[in-house]
Amino acid sequence: MSDTGYDSTSLAQRLIQIVGEDNVLVDEPMSEHTTFEIGGPADLFVTPDDADEVSEVLDACRAANAPFFVLGCGSDLLVSDEGYRGVIVSLTEGLIGVSVDGREMSCQAGVGLKEASEMACELGLSGLEFACGIPGSIGGACFMNAGAYEGCIADVLKSVRVLKADGSVDTLGVDELNLGYRKSRIADEGMVVLSATFLLKRGDSEEIRAHMDDLTRRREEKQPLELPSAGSTFKRPEGYFAGKLISDAGLKGWQSGGAAVSKKHAGFVVNVGGATAADVHAVIEHVQDEVESQFGVRLEPEVRFLG
Ligand SMILES: Cc1cc2nc3c(=O)[nH]c(=O)nc-3n(C[C@H](O)[C@H](O)[C@H](O)COP(=O)(O)OP(=O)(O)OC[C@H]3O[C@@H](n4cnc5c(N)ncnc54)[C@H](O)[C@@H]3O)c2cc1C
Repeated sequence: MSDTGYDSTSLAQRLIQIVGEDNVLVDEPMSEHTTFEIGGPADLFVTPDDADEVSEVLDACRAANAPFFVLGCGSDLLVSDEGYRGVIVSLTEGLIGVSVDGREMSCQAGVGLKEASEMACELGLSGLEFACGIPGSIGGACFMNAGAYEGCIADVLKSVRVLKADGSVDTLGVDELNLGYRKSRIADEGMVVLSATFLLKRGDSEEIRAHMDDLTRRREEKQPLELPSAGSTFKRPEGYFAGKLISDAGLKGWQSGGAAVSKKHAGFVVNVGGATAADVHAVIEHVQDEVESQFGVRLEPEVRFLG
């Protein structure tokens, strides 16, 4: 019996029946599955092969009263040093199919945004260029309406196929998703994205490539991509830029243990070597307190906390 009150041994056996022995890992370190490279062990780490298996896995978790968490690329996540007492359901190995019909491109939830934008470029389809440097999955991107530079998911999404909290599957149009700045009905109602269909524009592959190369260059110049992080640590407060407030507060390079405010881009907390989740929390809290005391603005984390 785990301390959260579910029987992880018998749940593991049930999950093995669904996804096979190789796709159920016990005490899997989450530092291996997050771009921060931080996080203690998850009780169970499961990789379903398709949407039906996702549904069965979640049913089994509910039946066993076990907490579960759907994982994309782990690029917006800080997992605690104690790890996660429950089941991580990872979609980036099994749900990676893409199909194209004219200007519509459908991607399963585990497809990487980078791969999707590359594929669209090769096919001469424009609209996903903004996503070429975001290291997340289609599911994670729909969940929080990821965006960069001049674009966001809401601009190009047509519909998503979701697994609702009651276990039913539905297709929802973009207008039904309440997509806003880093928010969605998917997040609010605990839905799981199984796949997403984008409506793109016809374009010229070379022009699309040039645009993507330009965005990549701008990102490489400004962002500390050489160090593990979860991207922008804080949401953009209305009327301000988080990075500028942090920089103006004199916090660039401020460090606690192995975590620090990036010297290159103050909006990023980076893992400069061996950071723990506690180190990152210490930096986040110090930044929040200093910025608030100097400018009266309380920064809200964009990074999601787990465990
Ligand atoms: C270097 C760097 C640069 C970044 N730049 C940007 C940027 O420019 N713009 C931007 O918006 N973000 C950026 N990010 C943050 C991150 O990449 C995005 O938010 C991305 O959309 C997260 O997707 P993910 O698959 O990694 O989600 P995860 O981190 O795996 O999960 C994040 C949340 O999404 C949920 N989720 C994941 N998959 C699903 C699914 N299939 N169904 C339902 N919920 C799901 C998870 O449960 C969790 O709550 C950056 C991150 C890094 C490390």
